[in-house]
Amino acid sequence: MVKKVLIVFAHQSSGSFNAAAKNAAVEALTAQGCTVEVSDLYAMSFKATATAEDIKGEVKNAENFCYLEETKLAWEQGKLSDDITKEQSKLTEADLIIFQFPMYWFSVPAILKGWIDRVLTNGFAFSKEKRYSQGVFKDKKAMLSFTTGSLESMFSPTGINGDMNVTLWPLQNGILHYCGFQVLAPQIFWAPSSAAPEDRKSMLESWRTRLQSLLEEKPLSFMPLDCFDEKAFQLKPDIYEKHAGKEFGLTVGIHLNKPLPPHSQMKAGC
Ligand SMILES: Cc1cc2nc3c(=O)[nH]c(=O)nc-3n(C[C@H](O)[C@H](O)[C@H](O)COP(=O)(O)OP(=O)(O)OC[C@H]3O[C@@H](n4cnc5c(N)ncnc54)[C@H](O)[C@@H]3O)c2cc1C
Repeated sequence: MVKKVLIVFAHQSSGSFNAAAKNAAVEALTAQGCTVEVSDLYAMSFKATATAEDIKGEVKNAENFCYLEETKLAWEQGKLSDDITKEQSKLTEADLIIFQFPMYWFSVPAILKGWIDRVLTNGFAFSKEKRYSQGVFKDKKAMLSFTTGSLESMFSPTGINGDMNVTLWPLQNGILHYCGFQVLAPQIFWAPSSAAPEDRKSMLESWRTRLQSLLEEKPLSFMPLDCFDEKAFQLKPDIYEKHAGKEFGLTVGIHLNKPLPPHSQMKAGC
């Protein structure tokens, strides 16, 4: 079956390294027979702010506007703005979503955060019943592909920025896995601006190689929802007991006050 890929691309320049990474993905995946769609957020002038204008017509409570509740209602009633609905349709169609961006302030650029805030609407992308391993998008895959300004050594457990696994946890667990996505290991292009031209070339080459079998990759592992109780969402005692004697914690976030499991947000099978 033809796989559909959505690339959510957040860079201002078509001559950037990020654009080259995005183009490499479009070429490699198209050559494999995938249908590839790109949401080029800056070119689209995608609105980054979550406001009442995201809802067509009257809102329920303009005086005490609650974005989470109002957009849920608007989604149910088909009253979300056209730019949001369009992105949601692309997302619904896609089997794999690749977010391609330069790291900004240990996170994503504001325009991409705006896409996340506005497109992953309450009800459409998650609900109390449907999240984490039982999430709405549990049959889809998603991944981060990004560049840094910092060197890899700076994002190591002994580096000045701290462990990259920690930086990735809110994005990969708090956003992607929360909505149910199977999260593929991130593609990190370390400091292309300070790399030698031949090193930049080989970074893109290894991305092209990875793209050949990206769709068959195993996702990162996260603790399934049924490992937690339904009231306080604490680890169930039997799961806790099972891991109590182990050297490392379960995940970056659920670490049981133990050392973090190395590479758990960077490599599948960790
Ligand atoms: C607001 C802000 C916050 C930031 N926060 C962080 C942070 O928290 N942590 C961090 O590490 N960094 C941070 N940065 C730095 C940022 O992540 C880097 O500047 C960015 O990742 C570099 O990617 P780029 O695509 O813009 O590179 P570019 O500057 O576009 O490209 C790098 C080099 O690659 C070359 N190139 C382009 N195309 C190709 C090609 N096809 N083949 C080979 N070479 C090519 C370019 O000519 C250039 O020499 C921040 C930057 C900003 C503006």
